[in-house]
Amino acid sequence: LIEINNLIKTYRMAGEAVPVLKDISFTIHQGEFVAIIGPSGSGKSTLMNMLGCLDIPSSGSYLLDGQEISQMTDNQQAYIRNQKIGFIFQSFNLLNKLSALENVELPLIYRNISMKSRRALATEALINVGLGERLHHKPNQLSGGQQQRVAIARALAGNPPILLADEPTGALDTQTGKEILQMLHELNEKGHTIIIITHDPAIANQARRCIRIQDGEITEDQEVVHS
Ligand code: ATP
Ligand code: MG
Repeated sequence: LIEINNLIKTYRMAGEAVPVLKDISFTIHQGEFVAIIGPSGSGKSTLMNMLGCLDIPSSGSYLLDGQEISQMTDNQQAYIRNQKIGFIFQSFNLLNKLSALENVELPLIYRNISMKSRRALATEALINVGLGERLHHKPNQLSGGQQQRVAIARALAGNPPILLADEPTGALDTQTGKEILQMLHELNEKGHTIIIITHDPAIANQARRCIRIQDGEITEDQEVVHS
Protein backbone atom coordinates (compact mmCIF):
# COMPACT_ATOMS: atom_id res chain seq x y z
CA LEU A 1 0.00 0.00 0.00
CA ILE A 2 2.55 2.57 1.23
CA GLU A 3 6.24 2.17 0.52
CA ILE A 4 8.71 4.86 1.50
CA ASN A 5 12.37 4.52 0.66
CA ASN A 6 15.22 6.81 1.73
CA LEU A 7 12.90 9.76 1.95
CA ILE A 8 14.58 13.07 2.73
CA LYS A 9 12.81 16.39 3.26
CA THR A 10 14.65 19.64 3.62
CA TYR A 11 13.11 23.07 4.04
CA ARG A 12 14.85 26.20 2.74
CA MET A 13 15.17 28.71 5.54
CA ALA A 14 17.01 31.98 4.91
CA GLY A 15 18.84 30.42 1.97
CA GLU A 16 19.92 27.44 4.00
CA ALA A 17 18.65 23.89 3.51
CA VAL A 18 17.42 22.54 6.85
CA PRO A 19 16.94 18.76 6.91
CA VAL A 20 13.72 17.79 8.70
CA LEU A 21 13.32 14.18 7.56
CA LYS A 22 16.58 12.31 7.11
CA ASP A 23 16.50 9.02 5.28
CA ILE A 24 13.11 7.59 6.27
CA SER A 25 12.13 4.12 5.01
CA PHE A 26 9.13 1.96 5.89
CA THR A 27 6.29 -0.01 4.40
CA ILE A 28 2.68 0.03 5.57
CA HIS A 29 0.35 -2.70 4.38
CA GLN A 30 -3.37 -2.48 3.85
CA GLY A 31 -5.35 -2.94 7.06
CA GLU A 32 -2.58 -1.88 9.44
CA PHE A 33 -3.14 0.41 12.44
CA VAL A 34 0.09 2.36 12.83
CA ALA A 35 1.07 5.09 15.26
CA ILE A 36 3.87 7.47 14.39
CA ILE A 37 5.20 8.89 17.62
CA GLY A 38 7.84 11.49 18.36
CA PRO A 39 8.50 14.66 20.31
CA SER A 40 7.49 18.12 19.14
CA GLY A 41 9.54 19.21 16.15
CA SER A 42 10.68 15.68 15.28
CA GLY A 43 9.08 15.87 11.83
CA LYS A 44 5.75 14.08 12.35
CA SER A 45 3.54 16.60 10.60
CA THR A 46 6.09 16.92 7.81
CA LEU A 47 5.91 13.15 7.37
CA MET A 48 2.12 13.26 7.44
CA ASN A 49 2.19 15.88 4.66
CA MET A 50 4.31 13.50 2.58
CA LEU A 51 2.08 10.50 3.31
CA GLY A 52 -1.00 12.55 2.49
CA CYS A 53 0.43 13.79 -0.82
CA LEU A 54 0.20 17.36 0.45
CA ASP A 55 3.90 17.88 -0.18
CA ILE A 56 6.65 15.98 -1.97
CA PRO A 57 9.98 14.64 -0.71
CA SER A 58 13.22 16.47 -1.50
CA SER A 59 14.62 13.10 -2.47
CA GLY A 60 13.81 9.43 -2.09
CA SER A 61 10.72 7.58 -3.13
CA TYR A 62 7.11 7.33 -2.01
CA LEU A 63 5.08 4.61 -3.69
CA LEU A 64 1.34 4.62 -3.00
CA ASP A 65 -0.29 1.53 -4.47
CA GLY A 66 2.77 1.21 -6.69
CA GLN A 67 2.58 4.76 -8.03
CA GLU A 68 5.52 7.12 -7.49
CA ILE A 69 4.06 10.25 -5.90
CA SER A 70 7.12 12.49 -6.15
CA GLN A 71 7.07 12.32 -9.94
CA MET A 72 3.45 13.38 -10.27
CA THR A 73 2.11 16.78 -11.18
CA ASP A 74 0.14 18.68 -8.53
CA ASN A 75 -3.09 17.71 -10.27
CA GLN A 76 -2.24 14.03 -10.27
CA GLN A 77 -1.32 14.24 -6.59
CA ALA A 78 -4.60 15.97 -5.78
CA TYR A 79 -6.47 13.25 -7.64
CA ILE A 80 -4.73 10.46 -5.72
CA ARG A 81 -5.24 12.32 -2.46
CA ASN A 82 -8.97 12.67 -3.06
CA GLN A 83 -9.34 9.03 -4.03
CA LYS A 84 -7.25 7.38 -1.37
CA ILE A 85 -6.80 9.50 1.72
CA GLY A 86 -9.01 10.91 4.45
CA PHE A 87 -7.52 13.48 6.83
CA ILE A 88 -8.28 14.13 10.48
CA PHE A 89 -6.59 17.03 12.29
CA GLN A 90 -6.09 18.03 15.90
CA SER A 91 -8.02 21.25 15.39
CA PHE A 92 -10.79 19.54 13.37
CA ASN A 93 -10.39 22.10 10.54
CA LEU A 94 -14.12 22.49 10.00
CA LEU A 95 -15.54 25.56 8.30
CA ASN A 96 -17.58 27.50 10.84
CA LYS A 97 -20.01 29.02 8.37
CA LEU A 98 -21.05 25.63 7.04
CA SER A 99 -23.31 23.09 8.72
CA ALA A 100 -22.03 19.64 9.68
CA LEU A 101 -23.63 18.25 6.53
CA GLU A 102 -22.06 20.90 4.27
CA ASN A 103 -18.64 20.35 5.85
CA VAL A 104 -18.83 16.64 5.10
CA GLU A 105 -20.03 17.29 1.55
CA LEU A 106 -17.18 19.64 0.76
CA PRO A 107 -14.42 17.19 -0.26
CA LEU A 108 -16.93 15.22 -2.33
CA ILE A 109 -17.30 18.23 -4.62
CA TYR A 110 -13.71 17.66 -5.74
CA ARG A 111 -14.58 14.12 -6.71
CA ASN A 112 -17.21 15.19 -9.21
CA ILE A 113 -20.00 13.52 -7.30
CA SER A 114 -23.47 14.88 -8.05
CA MET A 115 -25.17 17.12 -5.48
CA LYS A 116 -27.80 14.53 -4.72
CA SER A 117 -25.27 11.75 -4.13
CA ARG A 118 -23.11 14.09 -2.08
CA ARG A 119 -25.99 14.83 0.23
CA ALA A 120 -26.79 11.12 0.56
CA LEU A 121 -23.17 10.11 1.21
CA ALA A 122 -22.61 12.90 3.72
CA THR A 123 -25.83 12.13 5.57
CA GLU A 124 -24.89 8.47 5.78
CA ALA A 125 -21.37 9.32 7.02
CA LEU A 126 -22.79 11.55 9.76
CA ILE A 127 -25.29 8.89 10.80
CA ASN A 128 -22.42 6.39 11.01
CA VAL A 129 -20.56 8.58 13.51
CA GLY A 130 -23.73 9.03 15.57
CA LEU A 131 -24.58 12.55 14.45
CA GLY A 132 -27.74 11.87 12.47
CA GLU A 133 -29.57 14.36 14.71
CA ARG A 134 -27.00 17.11 14.19
CA LEU A 135 -26.84 17.44 10.41
CA HIS A 136 -27.67 21.13 10.33
CA HIS A 137 -25.70 22.27 13.35
CA LYS A 138 -22.76 24.57 12.77
CA PRO A 139 -19.39 23.57 14.30
CA ASN A 140 -19.74 26.17 17.10
CA GLN A 141 -23.03 24.55 18.10
CA LEU A 142 -21.29 21.20 18.64
CA SER A 143 -19.00 19.91 21.39
CA GLY A 144 -15.32 19.22 20.64
CA GLY A 145 -15.94 15.48 20.42
CA GLN A 146 -18.88 16.03 18.09
CA GLN A 147 -16.80 18.34 15.92
CA GLN A 148 -14.11 15.69 15.65
CA ARG A 149 -16.78 13.17 14.67
CA VAL A 150 -17.92 15.52 11.91
CA ALA A 151 -14.28 15.65 10.79
CA ILE A 152 -14.14 11.85 10.81
CA ALA A 153 -17.36 11.71 8.78
CA ARG A 154 -15.81 14.18 6.34
CA ALA A 155 -12.66 12.06 6.07
CA LEU A 156 -14.76 8.94 5.46
CA ALA A 157 -17.52 10.18 3.21
CA GLY A 158 -15.69 9.21 0.02
CA ASN A 159 -14.73 5.85 1.58
CA PRO A 160 -10.94 6.29 1.22
CA PRO A 161 -8.81 3.25 2.02
CA ILE A 162 -6.37 5.26 4.16
CA LEU A 163 -7.11 7.50 7.14
CA LEU A 164 -4.37 9.87 8.28
CA ALA A 165 -4.91 11.43 11.68
CA ASP A 166 -2.55 14.09 13.10
CA GLU A 167 -3.06 14.31 16.90
CA PRO A 168 -6.79 13.57 16.49
CA THR A 169 -7.41 13.53 20.24
CA GLY A 170 -5.06 16.40 21.11
CA ALA A 171 -7.83 18.93 21.64
CA LEU A 172 -10.18 16.57 23.48
CA ASP A 173 -10.55 15.46 27.09
CA THR A 174 -9.44 11.92 27.96
CA GLN A 175 -12.87 10.31 27.78
CA THR A 176 -13.83 11.93 24.48
CA GLY A 177 -10.39 11.09 23.11
CA LYS A 178 -11.00 7.45 24.02
CA GLU A 179 -14.28 7.44 22.11
CA ILE A 180 -12.58 8.87 19.03
CA LEU A 181 -9.84 6.23 19.26
CA GLN A 182 -12.48 3.53 19.65
CA MET A 183 -14.08 4.82 16.48
CA LEU A 184 -10.75 4.60 14.64
CA HIS A 185 -10.38 1.00 15.84
CA GLU A 186 -13.80 0.12 14.47
CA LEU A 187 -12.90 1.69 11.13
CA ASN A 188 -9.69 -0.34 11.12
CA GLU A 189 -11.72 -3.51 11.66
CA LYS A 190 -13.84 -2.56 8.66
CA GLY A 191 -10.65 -2.57 6.59
CA HIS A 192 -9.41 1.02 6.60
CA THR A 193 -5.69 1.50 7.04
CA ILE A 194 -5.20 3.89 9.95
CA ILE A 195 -2.12 6.04 10.50
CA ILE A 196 -2.22 8.14 13.62
CA ILE A 197 0.37 10.73 14.52
CA THR A 198 0.88 11.52 18.17
CA HIS A 199 3.35 12.57 20.84
CA ASP A 200 1.37 10.64 23.47
CA PRO A 201 2.68 7.14 24.35
CA ALA A 202 -0.71 6.15 25.79
CA ILE A 203 -2.29 6.68 22.38
CA ALA A 204 0.56 5.08 20.44
CA ASN A 205 0.18 2.02 22.69
CA GLN A 206 -3.31 1.45 21.36
CA ALA A 207 -2.08 1.02 17.81
CA ARG A 208 -0.83 -2.33 16.56
CA ARG A 209 2.46 -0.98 15.30
CA CYS A 210 4.48 1.95 16.49
CA ILE A 211 7.05 3.88 14.47
CA ARG A 212 9.14 6.23 16.58
CA ILE A 213 10.69 9.27 14.97
CA GLN A 214 13.26 11.46 16.60
CA ASP A 215 15.01 14.41 15.01
CA GLY A 216 13.84 13.32 11.56
CA GLU A 217 15.00 9.74 11.86
CA ILE A 218 13.22 6.47 12.68
CA THR A 219 14.60 5.14 15.93
CA GLU A 220 12.15 2.28 16.44
CA ASP A 221 9.56 0.38 14.42
CA GLN A 222 7.83 -2.48 16.17
CA GLU A 223 4.59 -4.27 16.94
CA VAL A 224 2.75 -3.05 20.00
CA VAL A 225 2.30 -5.82 22.52
CA HIS A 226 -1.13 -5.66 24.18
CA SER A 227 -1.36 -7.30 27.56
P1 ATP B 1 4.64 18.89 16.76
O1 ATP B 1 4.54 17.69 17.64
O2 ATP B 1 5.01 20.11 17.53
O3 ATP B 1 3.45 19.08 15.88
P2 ATP B 1 6.14 17.78 14.52
O4 ATP B 1 6.85 16.54 14.87
O5 ATP B 1 4.85 17.64 13.81
O6 ATP B 1 5.96 18.67 15.83
P3 ATP B 1 6.98 19.23 12.20
O7 ATP B 1 5.83 20.16 12.11
O8 ATP B 1 7.06 18.14 11.20
O9 ATP B 1 7.14 18.65 13.66
O10 ATP B 1 8.30 20.13 12.08
C1 ATP B 1 9.60 19.55 12.09
C2 ATP B 1 10.63 20.66 11.89
O11 ATP B 1 10.51 21.20 10.58
C3 ATP B 1 10.52 21.81 12.84
O12 ATP B 1 11.82 22.16 13.27
C4 ATP B 1 9.91 22.91 12.03
O13 ATP B 1 10.36 24.16 12.44
C5 ATP B 1 10.37 22.60 10.63
N1 ATP B 1 9.37 22.99 9.62
C6 ATP B 1 8.14 22.48 9.47
N2 ATP B 1 7.48 23.01 8.42
C7 ATP B 1 8.35 23.90 7.87
C8 ATP B 1 8.28 24.80 6.76
N3 ATP B 1 7.19 24.85 5.97
N4 ATP B 1 9.36 25.54 6.49
C9 ATP B 1 10.46 25.48 7.26
N5 ATP B 1 10.60 24.66 8.32
C10 ATP B 1 9.56 23.88 8.63
MG1 MG C 1 2.85 18.32 14.22
